Amino acid sequence: MTVNFILSIALILSCIYMFYRIQFFEDKNLVDSDFFQAFMLTSISALLLLVPINLGNITLSFFYIPILFLLLYNTFGYKLLSIGIVFVVYYFVFDYDLMQFFIFLGLAILFFLIVPFIRTPKMVILIGSNFIFTCLYMILLHLFVAPISLNVGFLFVIFSSIATFLASLIYTDIQNLIRLYKRVEEEKFYDPLTKLGNIKTMDTHLDEMFLKNESISILLIDIDNFKLINDMQGFESGDRLIKQLSDLLKNHVPTGGTLFRNTGEEFSMVLGDLNFDSTVRLAEGIRNSVELTKFHVDESDVINMTVSIGIGYVDTKEATRKDLVKIADSMLFAAKKQGQNRVMFAPIG
Ligand code: GH3
Ligand code: MG
Ligand code: MG
Repeated sequence: MTVNFILSIALILSCIYMFYRIQFFEDKNLVDSDFFQAFMLTSISALLLLVPINLGNITLSFFYIPILFLLLYNTFGYKLLSIGIVFVVYYFVFDYDLMQFFIFLGLAILFFLIVPFIRTPKMVILIGSNFIFTCLYMILLHLFVAPISLNVGFLFVIFSSIATFLASLIYTDIQNLIRLYKRVEEEKFYDPLTKLGNIKTMDTHLDEMFLKNESISILLIDIDNFKLINDMQGFESGDRLIKQLSDLLKNHVPTGGTLFRNTGEEFSMVLGDLNFDSTVRLAEGIRNSVELTKFHVDESDVINMTVSIGIGYVDTKEATRKDLVKIADSMLFAAKKQGQNRVMFAPIG
């Protein structure tokens, strides 16, 4: 009996891992959809029927544990479908006892109606639900099917609780790994603080723009003396200021334009087919707006900041992405050199 307990637990754990691993292997894109969960849990439930646990007068299996997971967190349709499939395997393939299944079903419906309304962490709900479910299942089987000795019933509840605990542990770990993996993938292209694209994304975007537009404008926007502000207010407040500036800049992006965060306190706004005069006016409007804004260092203190802006403007037939960025960069350098809080541009023509 003990061997089959251990076998059931090993089967649950290895299957959870295997299902996620195979899915990842196929398309390098982990999807944790309702369908996938239903498919995985139904399969594990059916496989658990392969490991019968002999309780003296009754033969049972841990098939109900995955179904309990499913009942708590999946959609109604999948719950119904899954129970249907498991029933077919339970009764027609393995020829388990029908009465036992109906007792399981009655309890499952009861839990399905109560548990979704309990507000406690998921893992506590799962382990608690499984514990109460298994105790009630043992008692009802004892009363209506065949007597189960206290020792055996107790052992079954303990192993069932261990199985649920380990299953929710591995499941939570996989969920956390998925979340971490997705974040790392995203951060290759996006800055997590401002949710703006990073410099790599900007380069790709610019390459596409060079194919579609006749002219491209870029505004390199850099906070003045930010090192000083950071040293005085602390890095955390510095981050808060960067976030607020990014929000302000987002409001200035014209339709068709895109904003990126290049490095710590430097942003770039990229625009296609905006004429030179409008580009300069846009930059001047941004500079002015930043100067007039009070930025929150914390809940009580505000400060003023200024930005210097270097403009790059090129005809896409005559210049490359590198030319564009180089012009803007040298203009930003000139703006800093001339005393900051200003817009600099190279006259065209
Ligand atoms: P300038 O007017 O010439 O631009 O001077 P600056 O001090 O703004 O420029 P500098 O390049 O000397 O320093 C930039 C500083 O920005 C250095 C660092 O303290 C700060 N910084 C860079 N990245 C981050 C970030 O992600 N968060 C915070 N809080 N600070 C950053
Ligand atoms: Mg700066
Ligand atoms: Mg800088």
